[in-house]
Amino acid sequence: MKKIIITIDGWSSCGKSTLAKQLARHLHYVYIDSGAMYRAITLYFLRNHVDWTNGAAVDEAMTHIRLEFMTNHKTGNTEVYLNGENVEYVIRDLVIAEAVSEVAAVKAVRDFAVARQQEMGKSKGIVMDGRDIGTVVFPNAELKIFMTADEAVRVQRRYRELYEKNPNITLEEVKQNLAKRDYIDSHRAISPLRQADDAIVLNNSHLTMKEQLQIAEDWVKERL
Ligand code: C5P
Repeated sequence: MKKIIITIDGWSSCGKSTLAKQLARHLHYVYIDSGAMYRAITLYFLRNHVDWTNGAAVDEAMTHIRLEFMTNHKTGNTEVYLNGENVEYVIRDLVIAEAVSEVAAVKAVRDFAVARQQEMGKSKGIVMDGRDIGTVVFPNAELKIFMTADEAVRVQRRYRELYEKNPNITLEEVKQNLAKRDYIDSHRAISPLRQADDAIVLNNSHLTMKEQLQIAEDWVKERL
């Protein structure tokens, strides 16, 4: 059976990873959350007081970072490991979200992450979500989806997710964070977030999870 590469890019919190996981499960493909890599690198920098505006400090730090993805057999999802430690839960914190877009704009960080992402896609059969997957990481991917959703819907979704961990969080904090990340991600010099010319837009503001999967599955069928 032919295997393809599926890329899902888009704004923060519009449900990219939910769709990516659905598709990967359905097609028996590998799912890679590229944002988890930038979040794990940010966690390393914060824990080790690495100044990411200092090129030499970043180059030195990158030599100590090892990232891996392993499947959690209970949930069936892939989880990210930083130097052998499962950091899937801790990287979802707002403290990480506040710094990650600045870290992800650093060239040495992107070179490191992109090289690993391309390696993971070598044998195809992969769904990867992020910001530059269809434009930079896999420009020849067979199916490129660009996801979007209304701002209010995105804020609500992320708020609900973060509230479970921290009931003190406010809607305003979440809104500010999404706006800040989207701004930095789409205005940075290297690999800014943009829709690839050959990507198909999926606006899921008013779609159920079942409906969005159905639409994406039809696109996959056309390409297989
Ligand atoms: O997807 P997620 O929201 O977890 O990504 C966290 C951050 O990582 C994004 O806001 C962006 O700054 C960065 N990122 C990126 N390129 C990717 C994936 C994520 O710059 N391919």
